[in-house]
Amino acid sequence: MKLNRRRFERTFRWVLFALGCTLIFFLPVPQWIKIAMIPLFGLVALQAWDLNRVPVIVFHSISNDGDWIREPSIVVSVKTFSAQIKWLSKFGYKGIFFDDLYNIRKNRNRRAGKKIVIAFDDGYLDNWVGAFHVLEKYNMKATVFVSTDWIDKCEILRLRIPHAKPSELGWKGYLGPGEIKALQESSLVDIQSHGTSHDHIFVSDQVIGFVTPQNTPHTLFCYLNPELKPEWFRHEINLPLGYPLFPLGEALSDRIFYPDPKLITRLVDEAGRPGFFNQSDWDERLDNIVRQFNKTNQKVGITESQDHAKKRWRDELVQSRKILENLTGKPVRHLVWPRDKSNSFVEKMALESGYLSTTRSPGHHNNSGTPAQVERISIVGTGYPALDVARVLLEVWTFKGCYIFWPVLFLLQRITNPLVLRYGKA
Ligand SMILES: [Zn+2]
Repeated sequence: MKLNRRRFERTFRWVLFALGCTLIFFLPVPQWIKIAMIPLFGLVALQAWDLNRVPVIVFHSISNDGDWIREPSIVVSVKTFSAQIKWLSKFGYKGIFFDDLYNIRKNRNRRAGKKIVIAFDDGYLDNWVGAFHVLEKYNMKATVFVSTDWIDKCEILRLRIPHAKPSELGWKGYLGPGEIKALQESSLVDIQSHGTSHDHIFVSDQVIGFVTPQNTPHTLFCYLNPELKPEWFRHEINLPLGYPLFPLGEALSDRIFYPDPKLITRLVDEAGRPGFFNQSDWDERLDNIVRQFNKTNQKVGITESQDHAKKRWRDELVQSRKILENLTGKPVRHLVWPRDKSNSFVEKMALESGYLSTTRSPGHHNNSGTPAQVERISIVGTGYPALDVARVLLEVWTFKGCYIFWPVLFLLQRITNPLVLRYGKA
């Protein structure tokens, strides 16, 4: 049966290639362009209809009450998630872990069949409260990537579906140690690393704005108050008014820019005056302070040295593994870069410090590519279950090389992307 399918895939590629070449022949373009297009089309045909390719799809929050999350497009309702997993299951997809994916790709296994890797980033509590039951129901394996600074201190297991009434469920927050252990012990969920800090850091000395009563970034609040990370949403986002804002990067791949504390004090003192933000020229006044400070001191802050950054990156890579391995009692060997940002240096460092694979996104890896780099398909929520289910199936099929679905997926993406944005603003 499998041999027939392989033969069918091969025949399909040849037919596609022949059709493509015929089409190219009739194109009203110069002869040399036609000749150049033939190998190009051959490459596309070679990639087509590879049902053994293993897609990796990534979710974040699966929640019936995700309003507290500042990026609502990463929230998918339990009903939608359940329908997505149900349909993947109906089409015969079996969930595997990152270790399995690594082995399939390392051994260049061309007979992986209908396997799928399901990932959750960040370690939201709702992965336990809402998603876990769906995984149990369809016996679907998944991997949760946890950032260790964000692990909740709550030791007891919170109530989850189906063991509680809807009104008793708490959706906000992050997984605690008990829930992480329970998920790992279920053998249905594997816990892997998403670094320790997941910090958004300043990376350049260009002031791009200031904290105002209307602009209080919660990522800056978490960076300045690391002990409050797992419960930031329970606090008022109290940031010093006038605090300068700089372009942002990722703690695990960029060097940190530290603004001069004296500059911060001057700006905060000025912005703290009564009625300061009622003045029409408040931003000019703050800009002037920055300009004056820069003139006198030649700089508005310092960037950490390359050596300091290297040590910080290595500590974060090693620490997150250690913490999760102590918690779960099993090896942690796969890493998702926070916000998918990395560089060739930290990628090398991750492999040296014991990780087998790290992720790159978004993209379409294949089984014969390097097993150390995994590309993932991000699943976003539109708030419309039917569209979300269609999109996940089309993403998976297109990934597997059924390019016949690509035009439909393209259309659906055009339709759903504005919905994601609108939903995001709601
Ligand atoms: Zn993340």
